[in-house]
Amino acid sequence: MIIIMKPKVRQSDVDNIVSILETHDLVPHISEGTFRTIIGVVGDKTKLDTDHLSLQPGVERLVPILSSYKLAGRSFKPEGSVFSIGDVEFGGSSPVQIAGPCAVESYDQIFTVAKVISDCGAKVLRGGAYKPRTSPYSFQGLGVAGLQMMREAADAFGLLVISEITSEYDLDEAAKYIDIVQVGARNAQNFRLLAAIGKIKLPVMLKRGMAMSIEEWLGSAEYILSEGEYRVMLCERGISTFETAYRSTLDIGAIPVLKEKTHLPVFVDPSHAAGRAALVPPLARAAIAAGADGLLVEVHPNPPEAKSDAAQQLRPEAYVELMRQINGMLQYIEKVKNHD
Ligand code: PEP
Ligand code: MN
Repeated sequence: MIIIMKPKVRQSDVDNIVSILETHDLVPHISEGTFRTIIGVVGDKTKLDTDHLSLQPGVERLVPILSSYKLAGRSFKPEGSVFSIGDVEFGGSSPVQIAGPCAVESYDQIFTVAKVISDCGAKVLRGGAYKPRTSPYSFQGLGVAGLQMMREAADAFGLLVISEITSEYDLDEAAKYIDIVQVGARNAQNFRLLAAIGKIKLPVMLKRGMAMSIEEWLGSAEYILSEGEYRVMLCERGISTFETAYRSTLDIGAIPVLKEKTHLPVFVDPSHAAGRAALVPPLARAAIAAGADGLLVEVHPNPPEAKSDAAQQLRPEAYVELMRQINGMLQYIEKVKNHD
């Protein structure tokens, strides 16, 4: 259930509802929108007198939510989530560019990439330090040392840091170096990890699992939101289908569907969907045309030498050219919209 409060509601009316909910052992989640405050109610509502609740001052109406997610649902924040991390706005009018190598490999590598991407206007440096590899004998990442390198490189160029965390055990240490926690496709339904991440007070980017429906994906997002962390972004990275011509099938249709179903910003990772560099630019352009709130692209100074995902990482020059095209597209989209 969500409680929709009247426009310009008084704080004392919100406090009154919160206290009624808390006396029933229910957890209130407050969304302060531009026009109204909405209160999401989590917990066992059987003892709650909903008629009494709906008559409280400031309450406009109670809306039962039948889906398995309510805080991730669009009705919790109808105007869409927009939030800032440092001075970067996510979910706002300009898509945010995230880029960096698949894995942090060395100081030189991460500094080179940080410079290239910041020169192109990217705001967030990515790089894996705990790599979820199919084989235990493949490169596993540099761990905390990798995170330290990435933090230094990001600070040198005024970038934010995003990195994947694969275990609850690494969270506290990693939180010292990163600004955004990435949940990878393989952990997108690791519910205890999601709940633990929801508690550490860092924004989260939740990738879509390779075999997850959109409904299941939003259920995973709800695990984070229900812990009180509302700065959650989704990232479409391709799903497993019968097609073998590329690594995964990028689900472009998921972008507009998510815009209907959820208020959370929607990012797209064309690199892991493509599996090879040549396919990355067209998929990136398609994602922007479909309304993505940003891209996450793998870039490596020398892809053939990369310790993971060598085939799909863009060379710096290719990233520079892609960003030139994306910026041109964004200007064009803006112009067309202004003619509406
Ligand atoms: C990654 O972004 O580093 C990664 C491993 O991606 P995914 O979880 O989407 O496979
Ligand atoms: Mn990768």
